[in-house]
Amino acid sequence: MKLILFGPPGAGKGTQADKIKSHYNIAHLATGNIFRRNIKNKTNLGQKVKSILDAGKLVPDETVVDLVIDELQHQKYESGYILDGFPRTIPQAEALDDYLSSKDTSIDLFVNLEVPEQELINRILSRADGRSDDTPEKIKTRLDVYHKQTAPVLNHYKKQGKVKEISGVGSIDEIFERIKEVLDQVK
Ligand code: ADP
Repeated sequence: MKLILFGPPGAGKGTQADKIKSHYNIAHLATGNIFRRNIKNKTNLGQKVKSILDAGKLVPDETVVDLVIDELQHQKYESGYILDGFPRTIPQAEALDDYLSSKDTSIDLFVNLEVPEQELINRILSRADGRSDDTPEKIKTRLDVYHKQTAPVLNHYKKQGKVKEISGVGSIDEIFERIKEVLDQVK
């Protein structure tokens, strides 16, 4: 199963991806996590993207696409994966689709986690992992970037008939139950 887990910052993609990963035993590729790990380890990539993440802006498409396609070559992605935080722009979605079709495959499902804006802000401000982009001002930038550059990706996959809308409001387990209902139909 190849799944895109989509939604605005604070929608709970990472939390639900962890649960999907253990329940269905598929790999989880989170671009934000890869960038943060590279920043922490002071790699070349980390040095290149640090100021961008700190500002709440998007890393250039080419950098992200190269990184994801490279990562997908690892054996652990062979039997399926969850993409979390990617694709985040139309060019990224097109590059992903092209790459998959060159392998005679495609995304199975696109899950959109819907959460009202005020709830997103409250959640991000109350999470305790101390991310440098979790300040009120940076959250505003990230939500603006989401509306302008990322939200159109939803329509791109709607046109392909891949989208399932899921309410991201409720307890972690309630939301996971909703996701399972949808994924169990695809498996
Ligand atoms: P969130 O969904 O809470 O914003 P992520 O961990 O997915 O958090 O992303 C954190 C940051 O990493 C983004 O604000 C952006 O700077 C960068 N990033 C992650 N994925 C992408 C992507 N696909 N394209 C461009 N930038 C990205």
